[in-house]
Amino acid sequence: MTGATPGATPGATHGPDPADDELRELAAKQAALGEVRGTPAADPVNAPMIRHWLDAMGDANPAYLDRGVAPPAMAQVWTMQGVRPRGKVSTPVDDVLAALEARGYTGVVATNCEQTYHRYARLGERLTPATRFAGLAGPKRTALGEGYFATWNVTWYADGDEPVAEMMFRVLKFRPRTRTGTAPAGRREPYPLRPAVNGDTAFFWEGVSRGELRVQSCADCGRLRHPPGPLCPHCRSADRSYVTASGEGTVYSYVVHHHPPVPGRRTPFVVAVVELPEGVRIVGNVVDCPPEDVRVGLPVRVTYRAMDDDLVLPQWTPREPR
Ligand SMILES: [Zn+2]
Repeated sequence: MTGATPGATPGATHGPDPADDELRELAAKQAALGEVRGTPAADPVNAPMIRHWLDAMGDANPAYLDRGVAPPAMAQVWTMQGVRPRGKVSTPVDDVLAALEARGYTGVVATNCEQTYHRYARLGERLTPATRFAGLAGPKRTALGEGYFATWNVTWYADGDEPVAEMMFRVLKFRPRTRTGTAPAGRREPYPLRPAVNGDTAFFWEGVSRGELRVQSCADCGRLRHPPGPLCPHCRSADRSYVTASGEGTVYSYVVHHHPPVPGRRTPFVVAVVELPEGVRIVGNVVDCPPEDVRVGLPVRVTYRAMDDDLVLPQWTPREPR
């Protein structure tokens, strides 16, 4: 055990709530379990995975494979569960996260990750993770909504119980904020995922509210850019303007989101990168189309959908190829 204080409540924002006490009790219980060993890695440290990882990271350093060791930042790679985990091995963290979910803290964002490397993992070693729940802090009011910070530590051991690497990981589990809580009579429930509107993006959302798809342009060199930003990446000019796009595009890439659940959305849904003839790409949902009919190259047209009484989002719907 370290000096972490399970159940600490700095910055608590409201009075005693039995649900908060239950969470604190659970957190204390899980922390008291100490370090819990997980399932050993499915595969020993191996050259093919190292090679793929170096390719993906763009790391051309030959030292790792020449010396038969893994990049230290790969620690988590070796023991990561696949999409179909082999058997159910729970960690002391799982029950805390499940309890938070059950109490409506469905949002999650990672806030801290610190890794410590003790030595290189060598080819042929099979790593085993061990997880220790370190603490729960909250409830706290954050920009995302009220939530709890959960912290845990993972240590990866090589054969012979020698620690190779450690990681401290912290997430904020939050109740996605809604503008008014519950909708007044006659108004729709507020859509929980709201875009960030700021000085760089306000013109875009003003356009959406008028049924225009606006793309930021550089007032000096004239090039278009998306997403909007403060400076032209080509000439560094801070002078900007916009053009109104035709509203047509083609699917450049896409994913079908099945899991996890997303507040305000019904799964599965399609998130696509849409390429505009104007030369920029925009991320958006493809609607009015079964997910299995979406494909790369699908011609689409923008459509404006009211998500609630205030928010309109640009989305994409198939169009006939011309
Ligand atoms: Zn420019």
